Order: sequence, then structure tokens, then C-alpha cells
Amino acid sequence: MAAGRTHNVGTLVLVPIVTWIAWELSHHDMLVTSLAGVGCFCGIFISPDLDMRQRTVSETTLLRWSLGIGYVWVFLWYPYAMLFRHRGISHAPIFGTITRMLYLLGIALLVQYFAHSYADAQWNIWPWVNQHQQSIAIFAAGLAIADLGHWVLDHV
Ligand SMILES: [Zn+2]
Repeated sequence: MAAGRTHNVGTLVLVPIVTWIAWELSHHDMLVTSLAGVGCFCGIFISPDLDMRQRTVSETTLLRWSLGIGYVWVFLWYPYAMLFRHRGISHAPIFGTITRMLYLLGIALLVQYFAHSYADAQWNIWPWVNQHQQSIAIFAAGLAIADLGHWVLDHV
């Protein structure tokens, strides 16, 4: 079972590999390559260890460097830690990534609901999601590879 810092290093090692694979597979498509690389890098923050109630290394880093925005992030993910048992489904390859993508979608829908109810906002997330399905899938694939690396490190 690897420590948070080891996981972050593992993910950072994976980022150039994923980026290179995406570059080759997409026949040098800049957008696909960037999305896959960024998705993998985001694995440091959208990590399977968000299922822990105590602060993760990434959250501590975020709190130190984000001038307070990190508190919003920690707050947003607290219910996730309550919902999922540590190293349960949240750590399962692919499934864990899906739980976090759906969780983020849930947050976006909640923000939309409150924006519509209390601020008379007109925007809607669904057309955006529909329009960017492919980009979201590529980002999620990069994230899934980071999560897979996390799983491997937890089992060696
Ligand atoms: Zn873990």
C-alpha cells in the first residue's frame, strides 16, 4: 500500500507516457493528446484516495498553493469520503474513475440547480456535456490510467 506521495510520483511518471501514447494513437492530434495528458495529471487531485476522510497529500498541497480555493475542493469531496469505503469500489480500476466522474457531474448539476433556483441563471450543463462527449471520454481515459497506476501501486 503506497503512500500519497508515492502515488503522486507514480502519476507524474505516467503523464508523459499517456501523452505520448495519445499522440501516437491520435496520429498527432493536439487536442486529444492534451486531454489525455491533462486527464492523467488530474489523477493527482481527482484521486481514488478522495475516499479517505482524512486529508490526502494532494489536498494538503492544494491547500498550501491555491490561496484558499483548496478548501472548496476538500469540502466538495467530503461527502464522497462518507459515501465510499476506503479502498472499496472507489479504488477499483475503471469503476472508481466512473464514480468520480459521476460525482463531479453531480456537483455540476447541484450548482446548476441552485443557480437556476436562486440566481435566475439560464445556462444548462447538458448541451455542453452532449457537445463534448468525446473530449470528456478522452479526459476520463487519461484519468482512468492514472487510477490504474494508483491501483497497481496499492497492490505491489
Ligand atoms: Zn489508495
